[in-house]
Amino acid sequence: TMSSKRSEAVQVVVRCRPLFGKELAEGRQRIVDMDVKSGQVTIKNPKAPDEERKKFTFDKVFDWNCTQREVYEGAGKPIVDAAIEGYNGTVFCYGQTGTGKTHSMEGKDEPPEMRGIIPSAFNHVFDAIDGSEGKDYLVRASFLEIYNEDIRDLLAKDQSKKCDLKETPDTGVYVKDLTTFVVKSVAEINNVLHVGKKNRTVGATLMNADSSRSHSIFTITVETSEVLEGESEEDAHIRVGKLNLVDLAGSERQGKTGATGDRLKEATKINMSLSALGNVISALVDGKSQHIPYRDSKLTRLLQDSLGGNTKTVMVANLGPADYNFDETMSTLRYANRAKNIKNKPKINE
Ligand code: ADP
Ligand code: MG
Repeated sequence: TMSSKRSEAVQVVVRCRPLFGKELAEGRQRIVDMDVKSGQVTIKNPKAPDEERKKFTFDKVFDWNCTQREVYEGAGKPIVDAAIEGYNGTVFCYGQTGTGKTHSMEGKDEPPEMRGIIPSAFNHVFDAIDGSEGKDYLVRASFLEIYNEDIRDLLAKDQSKKCDLKETPDTGVYVKDLTTFVVKSVAEINNVLHVGKKNRTVGATLMNADSSRSHSIFTITVETSEVLEGESEEDAHIRVGKLNLVDLAGSERQGKTGATGDRLKEATKINMSLSALGNVISALVDGKSQHIPYRDSKLTRLLQDSLGGNTKTVMVANLGPADYNFDETMSTLRYANRAKNIKNKPKINE
């Protein structure tokens, strides 16, 4: 099989959740409209009702009626398929706190139709493995969190330990000593997710932190080994696809939440990773920048390959529909709109 060297744009999809119970009770207005067929989003400025609605177009849009299954099929599945084939893939959710990032990435365990992209990917990977012949697979999982520019290994025995980033010309940027589990079934990888989520919650409580202020990355590595007919075991063809499933911290500015002291310091650091992400995107798409500031944050160093590199990337931008979130929703739409112009050069890792 030939490796593809074509460049392709980051896929950007937008998902808008329904109005909440509280928002409905307060009589909030929905200011977002979506046309699922054409991928268009329009938004009304509640402070200027006569102003024309702002329009944006994306690769796909998912409105408040869309199911978890539809979001997985449209935004997750193509990347998971690619990772099984040996490409690197990244799915990341961006947006204000409370807009459905974790709902989209994780969802709920039960009923099964409430499962998000991560557990759906687990089923998909093992279904693909069970259905294939003549190939051997090795699946590994790791799970980390970036909080206040510290990397925490969510699967480590010692949860007080912080991890360092390393870089080699061969492997690129990686987390030193990150715990990685070999997993042989959906049940085993689900267990890895649950252990990590529990450590995340316990850690957040100990640090008196809010998990919406940290970034998490669940990584699945799929290694495939195939011995072609007439060839010997030593000539096995090995491919490695790495799939990053990223739930970003909330993109709201601290001004609105009135953060001070430690909270403000923390918000600034979170914004360091998120604003670095914004700066990387700007530098990649303005066509003039010689220098892409990947090194400005842990998040952008870890996602370097996903933004302008050897990875197939999907960004899911999550929106709230209510009038009082107009500024944040506009900011998310503008952010997502810029990301459409990022070009990657994915190839199969052999
Ligand atoms: P975030 O991770 O962006 O802070 P959450 O995923 O925690 O947001 O979502 C906030 C709340 O809204 C949760 O109670 C979640 O179940 C609910 N929610 C989010 N998106 C949807 C959706 N598309 N449909 C129904 N409920 C949703
Ligand atoms: Mg969340």
